Amino acid sequence: MSMELKKSFQFEAAHLLPHLPKSHKCRRLHGHSFKVEITVTGDCDPKLGWVMDYAEMKAAFKPIWEKLDHYYLNEIKGLENPTSENIAIWIWKKLKPRLPLLTEVVVAETCTARCVYRGE
Ligand SMILES: [Zn+2]
Repeated sequence: MSMELKKSFQFEAAHLLPHLPKSHKCRRLHGHSFKVEITVTGDCDPKLGWVMDYAEMKAAFKPIWEKLDHYYLNEIKGLENPTSENIAIWIWKKLKPRLPLLTEVVVAETCTARCVYRGE
């Protein structure tokens, strides 16, 4: 029986989008309380009754979270253009090797706008 587990995280960070025209508000330096939701998909172990330990998902994401929280994202290697889309891809690339069951990364920079990435 295949099931999905989802776990949410939040980090605070600053960014600007350097390729936009100067008149665009996202070209100016600003910050967000970014929300990240990661999903793993797998079989539910009949004995344990779970797909995996949520604590394992948290532990896998922790070193990535530490690279993002309270940083200026544009200064991070690979995030020179830190759109939600590029942040989702960046997280996926770092997380997938640590979390092989990963099937989705969602990055939200506001309550009403988010990007979903499910790998290539
Ligand atoms: Zn922004």
